[in-house]
Amino acid sequence: MQFDDLYTELHDLTDELLGSNQLVKLKAGGYSMFPFFKNGEIITVKKCRADELRIGNIVVFKVDNKWVTHRLLKIILQNNKTYFIAKGDSCKKKDPMFTEENLIGKVVSHLHNDKHKNLESNYYKKIGWVIAYFSKIITPFIMIILWLILKVKKTKTVIKNVFHSLFFISRNSRRLILINILISFFQGILPFVIIYLVKWLIDAISSINAYSDKMDAYKAIGVIITATGFVFLVQSIISIIGSESRERLSQSVSLYIYSLLHKKYSSLDMAYLEDAKQQDKIHRAVQEASFRPMKMVNESLAVVQSVASWLFIAVMLFTIHWAVFFLILIAVIPGFWLRIKYSDKLFKMNKANSQKERESYYYNRILTGLPFAKELRLFNLESFFTSRFDNIQKYLHHQKNSLLRKQAFADVFAQTFAVAIIFFSFGYVSYLAVNGLSIGTVVLFFLIFQRGFFVMKDLFLSVAGLFEDNVFLNEFFNFLHLPSLRQIPRTEGTIGVLQKGIFIENVSFKYPSSQRKALDSISIEIPAGKTVALVGKNGSGKTTLVKLLCGFYLPDNGRILFDDNDISIINPEEIRKQITAVFQDFALYNMTAAENIFLGNIYKPATISNIKQAAKNAGIDDILEKLPSGYENMLGNLFEKGEELSIGQWQKLAIAKAFYRDASILYMDEPSSALDAETELHILHNLKLLAKDKTVLIISHRFSTIKWVDIIYVLDNGKVVESGNHEQLMEMKGKYFRMYETSKTI
Ligand code: ADP
Repeated sequence: MQFDDLYTELHDLTDELLGSNQLVKLKAGGYSMFPFFKNGEIITVKKCRADELRIGNIVVFKVDNKWVTHRLLKIILQNNKTYFIAKGDSCKKKDPMFTEENLIGKVVSHLHNDKHKNLESNYYKKIGWVIAYFSKIITPFIMIILWLILKVKKTKTVIKNVFHSLFFISRNSRRLILINILISFFQGILPFVIIYLVKWLIDAISSINAYSDKMDAYKAIGVIITATGFVFLVQSIISIIGSESRERLSQSVSLYIYSLLHKKYSSLDMAYLEDAKQQDKIHRAVQEASFRPMKMVNESLAVVQSVASWLFIAVMLFTIHWAVFFLILIAVIPGFWLRIKYSDKLFKMNKANSQKERESYYYNRILTGLPFAKELRLFNLESFFTSRFDNIQKYLHHQKNSLLRKQAFADVFAQTFAVAIIFFSFGYVSYLAVNGLSIGTVVLFFLIFQRGFFVMKDLFLSVAGLFEDNVFLNEFFNFLHLPSLRQIPRTEGTIGVLQKGIFIENVSFKYPSSQRKALDSISIEIPAGKTVALVGKNGSGKTTLVKLLCGFYLPDNGRILFDDNDISIINPEEIRKQITAVFQDFALYNMTAAENIFLGNIYKPATISNIKQAAKNAGIDDILEKLPSGYENMLGNLFEKGEELSIGQWQKLAIAKAFYRDASILYMDEPSSALDAETELHILHNLKLLAKDKTVLIISHRFSTIKWVDIIYVLDNGKVVESGNHEQLMEMKGKYFRMYETSKTI
């Protein structure tokens, strides 16, 4: 195929897509729209009619066999026909007139330096209009003014956000914040009060000969020295109080932030936690929450301190010469601007690398975590995972270092600029000194100028730091604002003990991260007081169904009824109150044995007899009693004097926890997978006794467990393929029968 044919085909295809109201992304070629688009930037095109176009829009039209993207300068209506005139921003000549037949569409947005620019916004409409109407000479000026307006607006929003964030994170520490602000204010001005006193001292000493009575001079000098000593003392005391109250503020803020983090995390939908994209968000939020709020508070206090210093410095510099004040200001601006620019870049880089960072954390966990230690040694996996970890870290370091290198180069320029201005100012004040400034004032200038420069630099860096923290902290706020996966109005009411049963009607479900249906039009009845089992191969959807029954997910189709209540509109907490469960991947808590059982129902009075009874029913009481400190013995090996249990013993403990809850509905997902046959029989016996009036749903691969239940549902590929009791299913001679027969041969 010739290139021309290929272009025609691509054009036709794009035209077709645009015609069906799709937005199409294209790569802009050439330089005719420079500086608006650069060669190779991505633009988004939308189909539009002639009457939707306005002067200044960027249009895509056909000329001969080519597509051109230029700015619309004129719309002419002649004999009921519309003609357009366009021109590239950097072209001298206008394009030949074209008609609606040649119009492809208009550019609605484009990606510039990784930033998405919406050309439909008022700002870009105005710019387009200005470029189209005004000559090239004034266009740059107008563009600069519009750019400045945009920057001022953005800065205002950022400042508002910073204040909002500060207000939010210090919500529980208002008094401490006020104390710290006051302390920072004094810490800002006191060093300069001392400098000013030194100036007085030098002036007083140097003018001692002017006094007729030397005693007066000594008195004046004595007063200044005493005042200086006093200010020194106050400064030291304030510094001691400052560190203590800063520490208290830090503790209070971090406690508050962690409480928000923990509360939000536990309220999040399971679907979020299992979704890789959301995990990135959560990971970033958790990471930022651990230090960013405190950094922000410290930076804002540093701003208070620097501003206080600067008020003092400004007055003093103005008394020397007003120009000196502005010179310092100009000297630090480039450094400030660079810091803001690079913190934005750093944020974007971190965001883009968040998945990679999580991966490297994960490999680190494998390399240092106890659960992986056995396999790591047995399969000799250390070098394998180390190399994965190293590769990712090297990649991340490379990215970060190249950004830091660029920043360092830019910083060198900013510093050189600042130093040049400082030298100029020194020269200027020396000139003023020759022309009559007092020695004290000259000393004051050199002391103040040097400190003033650093204070100003600190101030700008702290402000830039605040902006940076705010950008990063937004991740945390986004996390706090994460809605539950599906916002469904929930009813307020409570639900009582199950009367009729649980009815799963035609339920389908697909995990958000997956393309396949985990459950496909399933209908199951779990009558109240009966025991129902789910059997089927791995991956047939059994656990997913239990997750839906616990309200962790909502069905995509169909409904689940608790008696007459649809669980998708009942508050999930209400459902969970009625449920107790033993999960396949039950949690192991490194706490005492009694606490491990008590966690099953923290609202029930924790009497040892209740706890022991639950342990007895799960067949673990004798093991727990024999521990060195009995039920008060720490379990697991994370903490001192902890006793590690076998996996089967942990499982029994999980069952004890479920028994302790004493709920009317019991879900057991592979409750006996790690148990020996004798233990399993014991638990089953207790379960039968305890489950007399309970509704039980049990998932198991052991037919000894399943045989005695009331109804068995056989699942395959997310569908129910058989149901009935053991005898009925055996008679059917279907899937269940074959599974049963196979199990006997193993
Ligand atoms: P079973 O309990 O019968 O072994 P599951 O209910 O765990 O099966 O899984 C059913 C299907 O759903 C499987 O295909 C599995 O890959 C998929 N699945 C399970 N959990 C998730 C998850 N968190 N995210 C995406 N897919 C999942």
